[in-house]
Amino acid sequence: MVTAEELNPWLNAAKRFENAADRLDLDDGMRKVLKTPAKELTVAIPVMLDDGRLEVFTGYRVQHSIARGPAKGGIRYAPDVTLDEVRALASWMSWKCAVVNLPYGGGKGGVICDPSILSDIELERITRRYTAEIIDIIGPEKDIPAPDMNTNERTMAWIMDTYSMHKRETTTGVVTGKPLNLGGSRGRPEATGRGCLFVSKEALKQFHIPPTKARVVIQGFGNVGGMAARLMAKEGIHIIAVIEHDGAVHNPAGLDIEALMVHKKATGSVLDFEGATNIDRDEALFLECDVLLPAAKENVITSDTAPKVNCKIVCEGANGPTTASADKILEERGIFVIPDILANAGGVTVSYFEWVQDRQAYFWNENLVNTRLEEIMVESFYDVARYSKQHGVENRTAAYMLALDRVAFAIKLRGIYA
Ligand code: NAD
Repeated sequence: MVTAEELNPWLNAAKRFENAADRLDLDDGMRKVLKTPAKELTVAIPVMLDDGRLEVFTGYRVQHSIARGPAKGGIRYAPDVTLDEVRALASWMSWKCAVVNLPYGGGKGGVICDPSILSDIELERITRRYTAEIIDIIGPEKDIPAPDMNTNERTMAWIMDTYSMHKRETTTGVVTGKPLNLGGSRGRPEATGRGCLFVSKEALKQFHIPPTKARVVIQGFGNVGGMAARLMAKEGIHIIAVIEHDGAVHNPAGLDIEALMVHKKATGSVLDFEGATNIDRDEALFLECDVLLPAAKENVITSDTAPKVNCKIVCEGANGPTTASADKILEERGIFVIPDILANAGGVTVSYFEWVQDRQAYFWNENLVNTRLEEIMVESFYDVARYSKQHGVENRTAAYMLALDRVAFAIKLRGIYA
């Protein structure tokens, strides 16, 4: 029976933090520093709506850690955003950036609003006023926001413009995830899916499975899952099933991913695709495969479903797809998990490249972006593997230990300013 507690992503993150901190034997003081957000800002965002009413929205920006560099993390717009959620997501970013060794801390932002009932002009006004309210704590050297749930490259362009107007100079490096012709990076839309491909290939090597023999089941055919599917298929990997919110399609010989993309665009669904069988989305999760790639949402692999998944490797494209209770079950079953803070770090890695390119005002070709992404993802994969071996722990604990070690080391080197 899956409890509400098991499904709480922040409790899950806290459990993993404590588990890694215990194994590293971190003292109480360091645990307190690592757990406490460095800065939290709550702002009121008064906005004139299109119908002439004045509304006040609430926005947050939390910088969890700036020990290793400026804070880095997205901004989400949703009606149910809470400060607690933003705090937890900010700490998640600190660990993710540390695992892939980027010179960043972690941050996150949010605005309580429902974008589905707001016009473009209203969203622009909210974004600009929110930016003006948090302007003192963001900047290329302080805190670099990026898109998250319900925000996108257009939102980032508004933030960049508002910041630049205040500073009286165009400052592209204040946000990442911008449009290409406003200082964005080539390869950013594919980066998270591409990162999943790189780490999955390394994991397959551990099982001596060549890519052309590998069978993958992907949940979620959006940015992460769709790109991962496309790039994996190009390497000859067989995507035997794609699971979407309304059902799944299955072909044991491998799906034609480019054709499936065309089909989804035309019909709005992956279902009824020629050359595949429609199957139940819950059953598809348990298909026998080499890699299961959850790339849709959190809490997919739970204490209920973990005993039934039938794969050798789980590559966590989504954030928090596995609950802490399921971790144990997967470990006991010998399933090799590439944890989210490693598996989906390709996105923030290319965001880092975007920031570097903005600061140099010199833009790389896509090949260079992809080559450097591969170097970082592969190196990080083996950093985690080394920790796993050295400490005799599974990959998730190893990744958290690596991250906590790196952040704690930076704090120790800098010392405590008093
Ligand atoms: P997206 O909205 O582009 O894609 C998600 C897809 O999952 C959609 O096609 C949706 O229809 C599908 N989906 C929703 N509910 C489902 C269900 N119950 N079963 C099967 N499919 C379902 O989002 P995205 O950007 O691809 O993000 C997916 C996950 O990856 C999220 O957890 C996100 O936080 C994480 N992530 C994304 C990035 C990035 O760069 N986009 C980076 C790191 C982590």
